[in-house]
Amino acid sequence: MKITAIDTCILTIPMQQTLRKQFAHHKLVVAEISTDEGVAGLGYTMGFAGGNVEAIQVYLETRLKPVLLGQDPQFIGRLWERMYRADSGKKHGIAAFALSALDIGLWDITGKLAGLPLYKLWGAVSDRVPAYGSGGFAAYSVEDIIGEAQKYAALGCKYYKLKIHHPDPRENRRRVEAVRRALGDGVRLMVDVNQRLDVLASIEQAKLLEDLDLVWYEEPVIADDVAACAEVARSIRIPVATGENAYTRFEFRDLIEQRAARYLMPDVCHANGFTETLRIAQLAAAHQVLVSPHLAHELSIHVVGALSNGFLVEFMDWIPPDLFEQALVISEGCFQIPERPGHGMVLAPGAREKYRGG
Ligand SMILES: [Mg+2]
Repeated sequence: MKITAIDTCILTIPMQQTLRKQFAHHKLVVAEISTDEGVAGLGYTMGFAGGNVEAIQVYLETRLKPVLLGQDPQFIGRLWERMYRADSGKKHGIAAFALSALDIGLWDITGKLAGLPLYKLWGAVSDRVPAYGSGGFAAYSVEDIIGEAQKYAALGCKYYKLKIHHPDPRENRRRVEAVRRALGDGVRLMVDVNQRLDVLASIEQAKLLEDLDLVWYEEPVIADDVAACAEVARSIRIPVATGENAYTRFEFRDLIEQRAARYLMPDVCHANGFTETLRIAQLAAAHQVLVSPHLAHELSIHVVGALSNGFLVEFMDWIPPDLFEQALVISEGCFQIPERPGHGMVLAPGAREKYRGG
């Protein structure tokens, strides 16, 4: 069996409702892998707020696609290694996004050939995965945040995450308190710093929030500085979560060894695909660290469904109903993993034409 073609495109997905207050759109770099036996795989990565997609597409087309053409798509381990080592290795940033899209497409093909959804191919733990509602951006009013949180709570989500981006830490506390009061005891909260503070400011901010029963305190400092993250983790009582800006098992190993986080958040569309994300998750399991993947819930559910140390998937409700053929089903705050072979996501007829272009 051979890969005969890889067709790429950029899809621009406009944001609706509350999300539009923060972002005009997100973009996807899509890679559709064709084979000489008619089985095809869909891979993609997401440019949050549209970032980097042109560069990702060019890197994929010029540096990684030639590695895969003519090869057997079922030898994912071999092909992953060849892609990883292309250009002298180091698959971070744009190169890691590109590799991720292709790895996801290769696993889609392999799942289809096996006739199994990926979580079962990987040794299923559960066919239902709990999700947390995610949003609460800086451009939202407190009322916007409460409205968004209540929408996720109405789907049964027991957790909601908001950003704490205000320069005044006391204002961030006021926002978190207001959401907590509005939602009551049935929903627990987590907060996201998104790397905006230095060590001392992050510790000061966390201490102002310690009595609010938060599940985690996310990306407390710049993601490159593992020692700084570990210093915050040692100094505060809220568990730290991080990992959406880490790309390889080596970076996650450092986070684990330095005890920089209790929750790790690889993104299957950044962290060199399903292949590397599963390695990261197994490494975390050996250290009793929980994994809660960043975004891409429609793909991440397969990872969490195959893990003993999976926690929650991040549910940011930005996918329009006409992008994929079938909608995911969520009830009582849990996604039902589709039984369709592969990852089970198929672009809807007309979606390419409707959303194509920058
Ligand atoms: Mg985050």
